[in-house]
Amino acid sequence: MPMSDAFKQRLFNALPEIAAHYGTPFHIYDEVGIRETGEHLKQIFSGIDGFREYFAVKALPNKQILKLMKEMGFGFDCSSIPELIMSRELGATTEDIMFTSNNTSPEEFAFAEQDGGCILNLDDISLIDKVPNFPELICFRYNPGPRRTGNIIIGNPVEAKYGVTHEQVVDAYRQAQARGAKRFGLHTMVASNELDYTYMVETARMVLSLTELVKQELGIEFEFVNIGGGFGIPYRPDQAPLDIDTLAKEITEQFDAFKAKNGFVPRMYMESGRFMTGPHGCLVTKAINFKDTYRNYVGVDACMSALMRPALYEAYHHIDVLGKEDAAKDMTYDVVGSLCENNDKFAVQRELPKIEQDDLLVIHDSGAHGHAMGFQYNGRLRPQELLLRADGRVELIRRAETVADYFATQNYTPDAFTPGA
Ligand SMILES: *Cc1c(COP(=O)(O)O)cnc(C)c1O
Repeated sequence: MPMSDAFKQRLFNALPEIAAHYGTPFHIYDEVGIRETGEHLKQIFSGIDGFREYFAVKALPNKQILKLMKEMGFGFDCSSIPELIMSRELGATTEDIMFTSNNTSPEEFAFAEQDGGCILNLDDISLIDKVPNFPELICFRYNPGPRRTGNIIIGNPVEAKYGVTHEQVVDAYRQAQARGAKRFGLHTMVASNELDYTYMVETARMVLSLTELVKQELGIEFEFVNIGGGFGIPYRPDQAPLDIDTLAKEITEQFDAFKAKNGFVPRMYMESGRFMTGPHGCLVTKAINFKDTYRNYVGVDACMSALMRPALYEAYHHIDVLGKEDAAKDMTYDVVGSLCENNDKFAVQRELPKIEQDDLLVIHDSGAHGHAMGFQYNGRLRPQELLLRADGRVELIRRAETVADYFATQNYTPDAFTPGA
């Protein structure tokens, strides 16, 4: 089930007023839902000492949202300098931040070690020598290759650009020891939007057993394992949600068994993005045009610059037409934006109630990898973001982009020279 009934109840009655106040389109996020999901995660993993979620900043990189994460005690998973800056501005330091970059640049390494540093999660063995001041605490991203089959978004691990191979992993930690590392973590991320909880349990089993292997070889007792993000949400009404409770129970059992066998156990970290915020946001857009040609089109005032997933992955996002949630779906529409790309469609051949001029469409599950993925192609600017607070207040937490923003990178001090002259 996409967007929860509780979020709908909080939002839908107020939506015409919100749309009148701010104008459309906008993404709106639900503080209550985000907090409930966060608290639930903490509760179901409370049997694992030192469990911590590191919110994947890229999913919803907005300071007001990150503040909620910080208040819940979560850390941040960053992979770029702007994400590091944002996390640090909120007061996150050192081990509150996991820096999981790939194809990392010298500038990124230099930035990562500033301001108390962070947990450096290296994506490749060749990067060990490129870390300027090797930290005491180090982590590697592991790619199991043919030992695991992948899932749709990340793909087959053998084809994924991420991580060190099984054959390299012991050597990676050995080299890190040689550079002075004394504390160790192990990271992996082998799935994205995975709805089968057994896959994530298998991932926990995989990293725990890998720490045993590395310990045998090098005597390392790992401080933590990070099982990554990739916890899925059901975008389609007929999909069953991830059985997160059973997932937590079975992973806790693995940690208990590890402790019984080894006398100690690493902490468990995860870095969910989508699961934390995906269902707690939606994109609200207005129907502005109707076109009856080979198909029936509804043109809305948002386009793929606000939500790329349908165009990028042919992803399904459920749509409600406000005030017609229970009406018969006796029309078939393509719901389209105004970008000059034929994949600029929020829905293709979707059964919906009859839509009229100025109807508000609520496009579900835009709370993760939604606004953040937007772009400016075709001069289509990114919309505003709102936050529905627990007390019913609505706040603008990011303004819409303006034409001035669009031209900002073309207004600069001229710099030209003639090579060879
Ligand atoms: C994108 C990403 C995440 C978050 O993925 P979700 O599918 O949103 O949970 C976590 N960790 C890393 C390293 C990522 O690249």
